[in-house]
Amino acid sequence: MRKSDFLRSIVEKDLSDGRYKEVVTRFPPEPNGYPHIGHAKAITLNFGIAKDFGGKCHLRMDDTNPTTEDEEYAKAIEDAVRWLGFEWNGEVRHTSDYFEKLYNYAVVLIKKGKAYVDSLDEETMRLYRGTVTEAGKRSKYANRSIDENLELFERMKNGEFRDGEHVLRAKIDMSSPNMQLRDPLLYRIRHAHHIRTDNKWSIYPMYDFAHCLSDYIEGITHSFCTLEFENNRAIYDWVLDTLELEPPRPYQYEFARLNMNYTVMSKRKLKALVDDGFVSGWDDPRMPTIAGYRRRGYTSESIVNFCNSIGVSKANSIVDVAQLEYAIRDDLNMKVPRVMCVLDPIKVVIENYEGSEELEASYYPHDVPKDGTRKLPFSKEIYIEREDFEENPPKGYYRLTPTQPVRLRHAYIIRFKEAIKDENGKIVELRVEYYPDSKSGNDTSGLKVKSAIHWVDVATAKRVELRLYDRLFSVETPQGVEDINPNSLEIIKGAFVEEAVIKDRVDERFQFERQGYFYFDSIDSSDEDIVFNKIVSLKDSWSKKQKSPKATPKRRDINSTKSRNSKDGELAPLNDKEQLLFDRYTTEFKLSKAVANNLARDYKLRSFYDEALKEFNSPTTLANLVINELGRVVKNQSLDTLKISPKTMAELAKMVDDETISNKIAKDIFELMLKSGESPNKIAKERGLKQISNPQEIIPIVKDIIDKNPENVAKYRAGNQKLFGFFVGQVLKATNGKANPKIVNSLVKEML
Ligand code: ATP
Ligand code: MG
Repeated sequence: MRKSDFLRSIVEKDLSDGRYKEVVTRFPPEPNGYPHIGHAKAITLNFGIAKDFGGKCHLRMDDTNPTTEDEEYAKAIEDAVRWLGFEWNGEVRHTSDYFEKLYNYAVVLIKKGKAYVDSLDEETMRLYRGTVTEAGKRSKYANRSIDENLELFERMKNGEFRDGEHVLRAKIDMSSPNMQLRDPLLYRIRHAHHIRTDNKWSIYPMYDFAHCLSDYIEGITHSFCTLEFENNRAIYDWVLDTLELEPPRPYQYEFARLNMNYTVMSKRKLKALVDDGFVSGWDDPRMPTIAGYRRRGYTSESIVNFCNSIGVSKANSIVDVAQLEYAIRDDLNMKVPRVMCVLDPIKVVIENYEGSEELEASYYPHDVPKDGTRKLPFSKEIYIEREDFEENPPKGYYRLTPTQPVRLRHAYIIRFKEAIKDENGKIVELRVEYYPDSKSGNDTSGLKVKSAIHWVDVATAKRVELRLYDRLFSVETPQGVEDINPNSLEIIKGAFVEEAVIKDRVDERFQFERQGYFYFDSIDSSDEDIVFNKIVSLKDSWSKKQKSPKATPKRRDINSTKSRNSKDGELAPLNDKEQLLFDRYTTEFKLSKAVANNLARDYKLRSFYDEALKEFNSPTTLANLVINELGRVVKNQSLDTLKISPKTMAELAKMVDDETISNKIAKDIFELMLKSGESPNKIAKERGLKQISNPQEIIPIVKDIIDKNPENVAKYRAGNQKLFGFFVGQVLKATNGKANPKIVNSLVKEML
């Protein structure tokens, strides 16, 4: 089925009117960074249209800015296009291939009296440009004779002048309401080394001059670009028309660029994340780069589907990143094998089972099943997920408890006998019994269980490392590093996966049942150390996290009656007691809904919280620490075994409240408390972890940041308020998060 949108309609009409014999498009990236998901949209559009109408699409490196370009980036762009499944026509092209031709076209413009060498300094040139409401003023150099212009331009080319001494400008209209037409620059002097033309050129063409002509030279018919270039279209047309080129000529059409929430998408910002070490590289699986998605385990189909599904429009909008996550889930759901992996293992001994057997289980127990099975070794000792057993289960808990049997997925039903604990009371092993006549597929036991849980066989399971990724930014419209999600990467070293995953390798991507989709990381894995990246969870947990009080993401049990498609269910509503607590937390304590919800539901965290409150009555600070820090840790570890007590937690909260430490330092100290069990005050003293609140210490840092970023200072002062966050973030970063954010805020405001 052919897609339809306003650009395709234009192409279709041009072809049927006979304006062009075939459609030729191009994707023209600047090789100054790795391509991101926005580029995927442009790639899908340009290559997709060419494909749909039986035409061609060129790949052209727009390499007119020698100082920012790099071969590594050019290669990343080629890889991305190929990986997305597209083929460019002919060789990779470069704007620099046309430098000679472009120079000659510039000479023609000069000869026609339509271009001149200007020698105003930058400042005056800007003043002369006028404003939106005032006409500009033409430079006196515009009166130079054609011969003088030709001579100067040639000498510019020969490298006889310094950078910035002269420029070549089009002679169009200094009073045009379209500011772009006020004698735009065509060439500037740049004594720089170019990745392809070395030091041959001392002048480089500007985008507005090079782009339309490169399109023309290549026989492009439709030149698609993003909306920011709408006002540049007039120059595009002026250059081609003024040169009176032989038809047919290309035309420019604009579409809305892709913007996505929770994502930054300019190459400049992405480069900063890489350069400043916030991510491991351009292909860090949290990056919105094509290389990042690929490393994470996204399929190219899912990305192309996503790009097609968001459509092409003329109005800017913001796409929800959940839509991209949906696209990959949707693609993998029907495709990939389903296997079992235990992330947080607890050993289970089946007392009445002797020997071993090999069960057989389908890789594809999907709604539309496919052929393919694996052997599933089963014996006396297995691992299950620690959270799949509860000694004191809350209401609605359907998994294993002292009184409630559970099914082992693809195997038998087991019931609890005994929990073995260590000296701290932590459960180290479970003793159970199985029902021999309850074998999956051949169950004559007549027993009914509420759920099935995943498991692996101790003797044969393989230990693997899992990298659990979440969104890189925790706010919808991230401004910079201060919005980075501190939990965007969690590494689990001791997970166990069933052996067939490693032995048979039927795929690179798997659904680990009830846990999510995972991808084999071929770069960091070795024969001994296997690494899997989490591609995406089974269900969107963010939208709920943000919007509803029923927030905590939690899974539904495999055999629950609700839906067989999604293993990952929504949460039961709060019961009466929980609801009362929730109301109290949100109204009286003014806790956020998400925090209140978690606290109301989790009786363990809640009792810890209550105890801590008795020590130090600071409901908000304590709730945040308990839910965000403690809550994260107890996902993988039982609360009783932690080296943190309500008392030391209260002490930590007090240090935050009296501003001895910042929230960031509190997080760091919390990690150290986990390890050593020492008091936060002691840790802080020993490590010198103290919030810097003295303005005299912070002022020089702010000064330094201001000095280092003159461009951003100018933009901020010219009204770009968004940059405020940038400065605050830089100062916080320079102090390793130790500076008191309130004081930094007011100092930055003052000093800017
Ligand atoms: P950025 O602003 O993110 O650094 P850019 O526009 O400078 O990107 P280019 O390499 O010049 O990057 O872009 C190559 C092509 O990709 C251009 O045609 C541009 O219009 C398109 N493109 C860039 N970003 C997006 C986006 N977010 N959505 C759609 N198309 C995009
Ligand atoms: Mg650009």
